[in-house]
Amino acid sequence: MSQLTETAVKASHAVLREKYYCLIGGELTGAESGQTFPTINPATGEKLADVPDCDERDVNRAVEAAQKAYPAWRRLTPLERAGYCRRFAARLRERAETYALLDALDGGNIIRSLRQDVEHAARMHEYFAGLATELKGETIPANAQTFNFTLPEPFGVVGRIVPFNHPILFAASRLAAPLVAGNTVVLKSAEQTPLSALEMGHDLKELFPPGVVNVLSGDGPKAGAPLVRHPDVRRVAFTGSVEVGRQILRDSADGLKTVSLELGGKNPMIIFPDVDLEKAVASAFQGMNYSWQGQSCGSTSRLFLQDSIHDEFLERLAERAQAVRIGMPTDDAAEMGCLVSERQFDKVMAYIELGKKEGARLVTGGGRPPNPEFQRGNFVEPTIFDQVDYRMRLAQEEIFGPVQSVIRWRKTEELAAMANSVPYGLTASIWTRDFATAYRLAQEIEAGFIWINDSSRHFQGVPFGGYKQSGLGREECLSELLSYTQIKSINVNLA
Ligand code: ADP
Repeated sequence: MSQLTETAVKASHAVLREKYYCLIGGELTGAESGQTFPTINPATGEKLADVPDCDERDVNRAVEAAQKAYPAWRRLTPLERAGYCRRFAARLRERAETYALLDALDGGNIIRSLRQDVEHAARMHEYFAGLATELKGETIPANAQTFNFTLPEPFGVVGRIVPFNHPILFAASRLAAPLVAGNTVVLKSAEQTPLSALEMGHDLKELFPPGVVNVLSGDGPKAGAPLVRHPDVRRVAFTGSVEVGRQILRDSADGLKTVSLELGGKNPMIIFPDVDLEKAVASAFQGMNYSWQGQSCGSTSRLFLQDSIHDEFLERLAERAQAVRIGMPTDDAAEMGCLVSERQFDKVMAYIELGKKEGARLVTGGGRPPNPEFQRGNFVEPTIFDQVDYRMRLAQEEIFGPVQSVIRWRKTEELAAMANSVPYGLTASIWTRDFATAYRLAQEIEAGFIWINDSSRHFQGVPFGGYKQSGLGREECLSELLSYTQIKSINVNLA
């Protein structure tokens, strides 16, 4: 690392606390066992801090605190609860730089993108606060002698488990819907990126009544699984991998819990020959989420290029990918940072080797950039493979890294079958000026969220979630709020 870069990274360490605590029942506390685990800066390999290594005992304490806080929280009016979320949104904005910096150090994502994540989290709290008055029921005129009506009621304690790729965004934004709906929450942060969630504990302690939100750090089996299985956790919400999603469903089976899952994807982007090439190339680049090193479930990592434009499109895309400014995540100028962990780095490199073995042609990237400052971190260049057959493992399995597979296509009729050939169904992107064609294809593709002439953008109020093994339920919309309620029917005999 150059002297200048090293100094800048060290200066950003001023944002770190000397000690990190969980938040349980309004108290900042360590794990009952006294154990901690280190969290590492994936750009340098250096230890940043030690954080509480929670286990079942801490989960029990947190659920008990959430259970205790529930009756009073539930009795508040929806607008009163919304007020708490609005104040929290304001706090997120005030402290945006701290949160963004912590995530940049802890997770390897670039600070520019992380500032947007904090803003999105704040907006999500304002959005759900605005929906508070939509927590309403129906009247049903079943017969003249009975007054039938329904009430949407909260579940009680919600267990929320989040992944590493958007730490503050998922930890903060996904509190809004359950809280506005009247539930209390126990949140478990991802073991790779606990710092921003634990930092958030300080703000939650100040802004919410004790126990309404509780924040834990710890790994999946020791802290996540007991949270899912705890009998007093009535509703489980998970964002992460398909494999763990399945385990969470299994662990929820005994308690017959209501579960929502936002899981992985291997999403197609389909380019027709009639498009504005410049815009479509920019979108193919954007859709890969290279600014998150491809670690995003919605990334359109299978790029279907029509035969007649294939060569020119690919050439321009490769040029764009090669021009990416890879940098230290805390550097304002960086366009791409590094993968979250050595494990993730090894996994991505193994897929790159697999792609070569399967006979795909490596067009660009394929490893760590050569610059000296990137040798200690989990940096991988944007990597594009051409001559990919849609049946190769490279094109079937989620890599969760900066690896894009280009598949050549000739006949429109073949597209839906190729797009639908994976077990996932999260997003898709279709590029053509012919709306009838795009609309027909959009109806045939099995995915929960489709862009036509766009990619990667989310919009508040537009349901986001997966078909097939990409998940259960929809988020970022009214149905997310309502999914944290259950309907009670009340029937009054007037006779
Ligand atoms: P990723 O591939 O993004 O790391 P994972 O699905 O492995 O996603 O992890 C996402 C979250 O799920 C993390 O907070 C992790 O600790 C948690 N987790 C992992 N295993 C389990 C489990 N068996 N039960 C509950 N949570 C788990």
